[in-house]
Amino acid sequence: MRRALITGITGQDGQFLAELLHEKGYQIFGLVKGQNNPKGVQVQAELPFVELISGDLADLSSLVGALEQSQPDEVYNLAGISFVAMSWKQAELTANVTGLGVLRLLEAIRMIGGSEANPIRFYQASSSEMFGKVRETPQNELTPFYPRSPYGCAKVFGHDITVNYRESYGLFACSGILFNHESERRGLEFVTRKITNAVARIKLGVQQELVLGDLTPKRDWGYAGDYVRAMWLMLQQDKPGDFVVATGQTHSVEEFAALAFEVGGLGDWHQYVRQDERFFRPAEVDLL
Ligand code: NAP
Repeated sequence: MRRALITGITGQDGQFLAELLHEKGYQIFGLVKGQNNPKGVQVQAELPFVELISGDLADLSSLVGALEQSQPDEVYNLAGISFVAMSWKQAELTANVTGLGVLRLLEAIRMIGGSEANPIRFYQASSSEMFGKVRETPQNELTPFYPRSPYGCAKVFGHDITVNYRESYGLFACSGILFNHESERRGLEFVTRKITNAVARIKLGVQQELVLGDLTPKRDWGYAGDYVRAMWLMLQQDKPGDFVVATGQTHSVEEFAALAFEVGGLGDWHQYVRQDERFFRPAEVDLL
């Protein structure tokens, strides 16, 4: 039976990936931060086939312990501070977890799997936010990065160190440069869920208005359940590499909001949505 360790098991992608790997007959271990993490309790109830291991990307020894315990064939690093807006408020933490955390995990894999012919396959969750102020459209695996947030900067480090460990030590390390992907499991702080959740609440009469930031940025939104399949496929290739995953279509936040209010049967979105500059990013990514 193949064995997989997923960091970020309490997040959106971790849960979809665990379901996919379970269907494929894997034994699955999930890294959970902190003691009695309530999201860990929820994951244990919803995905009882996952064995939870306590650990933190900020703590190397806990990562070594998690690898010793799980003895994985594949490691999927989905953990991180993932909310771009928060990365300005907690920039150092973001750099430590989302950036340096990748280095710690790669070092732990090197310690456990050995420097020669290391059998552990590694997936790094890179992000289209690394393209930031885009250098070309559309972006591809060779497009230079120009991150526009502490999150994007940390992801660039995580991406580069993954490539570097592949080239320095021959690790089977892949980096998936994923564009935005959403689902019913997406955290409520993200704009897609903020909008859809508000539509439902306004319809039920428990909320009157929706306050948003800039409505003009355009994003390429896919479905998380599809994108975790791409992660798994990357680790099944003959050779490791880096891969962009996207739908190839972009839509603005405004279009997303308009459609959500229409689907919710509430009519013209203008009557419910108010813009507030407090929700604008210090440096925006206009088009991905
Ligand atoms: P998410 O729902 O925000 O999940 C992030 C996970 O990281 C949570 O399980 C969280 O645990 C965990 N985590 C945070 N700090 C940690 C630490 N110090 N040690 C261990 N675990 C920690 O993110 P997602 O949407 O599933 O995305 C998965 C990964 O793909 C992330 O790295 C994200 O940046 C990247 N990504 C996402 C997208 C997207 O559109 N969703 C696009 C490109 C890249 P707690 O719940 O306990 O805090």
